[in-house]
Amino acid sequence: MSNIFEYAPAPESRAVVDIKPSYGLFINGEFVDGHGKAFKTVNPATEEVLAEVAEADDADVDEAVKAARRAYTRVWSRMSGAERAKYLYRIARIIQERGRELAVLESIDNGKPIKESRDVDIPVVAAHFFYYAGWADKLEHSGYGSTPLGVAGQVIPWNFPLLMLAWKIAPALACGNTVVLKPAETTPLTALLFAEICQQADLPPGVVNIVTGAGDTGRAIVSHPDVDKVAFTGSTEVGKAIARAVAGTDKKVTLELGGKAANIVFDDAPLDQAIEGIVNGIFFNQGHVCCAGSRLLVQESVADEVLERLKRRMSTLRMGDPLDKNTDVGAINSGEQLKRIRELSEVGDAEGAERWEVACDLPTKGFWFPPTLFTGVSQAHRIAREEIFGPVLSVLTFRTPSEAIEKANNTPFGLSAGVWTDKGSRILSMANRLRAGVVWANTFNKFDPTSPFGGYKESGYGREGGRHGLEAYLKGEDS
Ligand code: NAD
Repeated sequence: MSNIFEYAPAPESRAVVDIKPSYGLFINGEFVDGHGKAFKTVNPATEEVLAEVAEADDADVDEAVKAARRAYTRVWSRMSGAERAKYLYRIARIIQERGRELAVLESIDNGKPIKESRDVDIPVVAAHFFYYAGWADKLEHSGYGSTPLGVAGQVIPWNFPLLMLAWKIAPALACGNTVVLKPAETTPLTALLFAEICQQADLPPGVVNIVTGAGDTGRAIVSHPDVDKVAFTGSTEVGKAIARAVAGTDKKVTLELGGKAANIVFDDAPLDQAIEGIVNGIFFNQGHVCCAGSRLLVQESVADEVLERLKRRMSTLRMGDPLDKNTDVGAINSGEQLKRIRELSEVGDAEGAERWEVACDLPTKGFWFPPTLFTGVSQAHRIAREEIFGPVLSVLTFRTPSEAIEKANNTPFGLSAGVWTDKGSRILSMANRLRAGVVWANTFNKFDPTSPFGGYKESGYGREGGRHGLEAYLKGEDS
């Protein structure tokens, strides 16, 4: 690997997880066989087949929606907020108790380093359930009313499988809705373990239903006539298709889509800190992050110094076994995603940008891409405009704050941005002018359940997290 420091591998034990050879669908509180086919989920670090998972067809989705409707009408919407909160607190505590198991399973199925699943994903998942449990009996103070919508159909991506599930399920349940959720086809296992946690918490049957499958299953959920609310996180392309599918219905919709965030470094920034922020911004979770700082905008006067320090820091990143506690950069989630990253990087070469990558031996099995940066990138380049969704950074320079703003906002997306400077007044003026849902100052990729998250423009609409996240699951003050 690329390491300049010797170290001994310290793999987390896999014995803590019990992966079954096959999984059914979780409908009405039970695991049932689907009517459709099955698909395989693989470990992206080794290509080992982990399990066969049922692919829900239209009839399965219909059963799940019916179960959710029954649970909504008969149980969940009639229960007091304080009673619903008890279930959410119980789920949150079980997630903490089973945290190690969830983290190991997430790293095996997704490819992300154990230190991230253990120290970021799972603690933030538990925090979301705790946070929204606290709202369940206080909805009349939310500003959005306290009447739930009904059945929520939720479709999520593979980059933060359990975290995206928590962002969707915790607020929905706190507000009194029931859910049918579909995890991504490459990462179904932690959602299925979450289904077991619902059983362990004695959650009434039908309140949470988990149906596995790919795009067709997602389409069946989104277009089901008895779904009142659609919550989607994923690509802008599929988000647009969903917006078209629900147009003309009275379904409420939130879309959390792609991004191409600018991470802006001024010459007065604390550079060592900024380098850590740039690395975290683009190499955290292999760059499979919708709000990744994938465009570095660096002030021209410090560009050479920043690049030199950045390359030196990148050379110390440890790439390899996701279960090794030393690993900084794990596996790319799928062969398909690896292909997309390679293709778009080759477009960068063809457009004349200069590629620099960490020199390292990649494992022969599994899906891997080394931490990479491109210099000499112009705004017109596709690598500056399109989401690569991998460990690839495009570097651009600027001279003045106005130029930085103009370049940062010159994108169809508007999810997040980072600003690195010593001046508080500059942070405030930049934050006011950046067209991004989240602006981090002298930090990056900070997620907290109390803080709303969401985009402008093609990054989607609606907010998840915080009090604002309740709006998507309530009928509003006037109803
Ligand atoms: P994707 O859009 O291909 O898939 C997302 C989910 O939608 C999957 O579960 C998939 O099976 C399902 N799906 C596919 N076609 C569908 C259809 N026609 N109808 C309904 N469901 C369908 O995205 P992906 O490749 O899994 O995820 C990566 C994308 O997600 C990136 O663009 C990333 O920026 C975005 N993302 C956004 C956020 C955010 O909060 N804004 C968070 C994480 C990821």
